[in-house]
Amino acid sequence: MAVDPLRELCDLLARLPGVGERTAQRLAYHVVRQSPDYARALAQALLGVVDGVRTCSRCQALTAVEPCAICGDPQRERGVVCVVANPQDIASIEATGEYRGLYHVLHGVLSPLEGIGPEEIRARQLIARLPGEPPVREVIVATPASVEGEATALYLAGLIRPLGIAVTRIAFGIPMGGEIEYADKLTLARALGGRRPI
Ligand SMILES: [Zn+2]
Repeated sequence: MAVDPLRELCDLLARLPGVGERTAQRLAYHVVRQSPDYARALAQALLGVVDGVRTCSRCQALTAVEPCAICGDPQRERGVVCVVANPQDIASIEATGEYRGLYHVLHGVLSPLEGIGPEEIRARQLIARLPGEPPVREVIVATPASVEGEATALYLAGLIRPLGIAVTRIAFGIPMGGEIEYADKLTLARALGGRRPI
């Protein structure tokens, strides 16, 4: 049976976060009513994201250039690495203006219930870059204040401490269960400043 293109567009749009069936339908019909140029530009932009954005080989952040702008910036302090669960957390921490070190993105947190174990998060890549030039002297773990985020922090501390590198956890003025990306700037700046050894 032939695929109904309008139906297919609705189904795909409905898979975006915060977009329900009704909104998806409204957006799809809107696109159809626009000039074909708009739809083509939209499709091109989507393909551009797919083809042009990759993960930085050093920090695993999403980037269009290799290495990413932060890893490639000679002004950044290279002895400190802040570990985050999600790529968008970097933008939140950068917005505080309080942090000048490098990052490492895990792309997840440990969650045995969801089948996410140590091999599914990018911890191995983190350990591999620690002896770099210059060597990393502090790893700040900024995973979320959830059971999974805490378990991930303890797991990383267990791997990194034996290497003689300080491991700290950001202080959580951020509410329990809190995602970094939703914390306000001041709270996040305080959380960084009040970090404690783990
Ligand atoms: Zn990078």
